[in-house]
Amino acid sequence: MKQTFALVDCNNFFVSCERVFNPRLEGCPVIVLSNNDGCIIARSNEAKALSIPMGMPLFKARSLIRHYGIEVYSSNYPLYGDMSARVMNALGSFTPNMEIYSIDEAFLGLAGFEHRGLNDYGHDIRKAIKKWTGIPVSVGIAETKTLAKIAGHVAKKSVEADGSFTITDEATRRDILAQTLIRDIWGIGSRWARMLNSQGIETALDFHDTPEHWVRKHMGVTGARTLLELKGQPCLDLESHPPDKKTIRVSRSFAKPVTTRQALRESVAAFAARAAEKMRRSSLVCSIVNVFVVTNHFDPQTYYRGSASSHPPIPTNHTPDITRAALIAFESVWRPGLQFKGAGVMMLGLIRAENIQGQLFFPPDTLADARKERLMAAFDKINTSAGSNALRMASVGVNERAKSGVYTVQKHHSPRYTTCWSELPIVRAEASI
Ligand SMILES: [Mg+2]
Repeated sequence: MKQTFALVDCNNFFVSCERVFNPRLEGCPVIVLSNNDGCIIARSNEAKALSIPMGMPLFKARSLIRHYGIEVYSSNYPLYGDMSARVMNALGSFTPNMEIYSIDEAFLGLAGFEHRGLNDYGHDIRKAIKKWTGIPVSVGIAETKTLAKIAGHVAKKSVEADGSFTITDEATRRDILAQTLIRDIWGIGSRWARMLNSQGIETALDFHDTPEHWVRKHMGVTGARTLLELKGQPCLDLESHPPDKKTIRVSRSFAKPVTTRQALRESVAAFAARAAEKMRRSSLVCSIVNVFVVTNHFDPQTYYRGSASSHPPIPTNHTPDITRAALIAFESVWRPGLQFKGAGVMMLGLIRAENIQGQLFFPPDTLADARKERLMAAFDKINTSAGSNALRMASVGVNERAKSGVYTVQKHHSPRYTTCWSELPIVRAEASI
């Protein structure tokens, strides 16, 4: 059966989430900052039009912000995560086959929907998502995922497309590919783009017309797959179950340098607890806990980066066991007298919880394991309803910093409108007679 894929991409997603609850921002230049308010990670179209570059550090953008009156927001991940879930849930009503590709993108399988008129269906999806969630999306439709990505770019950029574009025939495909640069093809990294450019291959159409044996020789099977996808032959299917993560990392840059052993140790314990929680959410366990700490790399005199690992006796996602392992590793990296700028933990050797193997010296103790599992289930339930960090290990500390989980500077934070009772938006109705 002929395949059809749609790529649905939320437009300027983080900015759009802010706008849903603050319509005053409509039409204004808006930017969203990374953790710690470090640099720009999302821009509204108006901010893009002012040539504000992605990734620019905030301190360099200050004069532009003042000059153009740009609205600045710290990243509000509880809000973005919740809005993403709403968009994805809504998309699920348009097809049974779907792959959530990132926080703001999903591929839909639309084979069998041709009778609806694919481009009309794209517009229906767009209108419904906007109406149901407030988030504007663009929809690109084509025979392969790689072409759907390209169609998505057209949907977003072209005024005539008005948010939905379908690559229907050979002529349209060639026309669109001729307007697409090599580096904008999904799956072609910057290294390959440079290599192809050096061979005079500038556009996606040039690449499309390159002989397959040449591509296979120089870019292997991955390159050949991209080539076939551009020709309309699907090589990539929907991945409804994303592959398991290989590592889980929780790290932060500190707002102010951390100098005391206790404060750094508490941070590491808090990161370990967060990482354990993430593992439980994905039903994963780890066999290695890595801890790293770093000082300011702009000061080469005192620059230090320490990293150490520790192994829990058996692979686990139990918060006390993970924290213990992290604090053992912490002892190897701690150095007194330094000003620490950041720290983090990495969970390595991840496997699915059901695949844990018993070991000679640690035979499985099913009773104890079941108790640990129940304990963590209760732990997570309490933290979900009472707010994350409501229940925590003593090693995380009892001060306010640990309680709020805030290690970062976020001066421009919007409320968590959808995930926190005390921050719900309030609508005031004026009485009129
Ligand atoms: Mg997007």
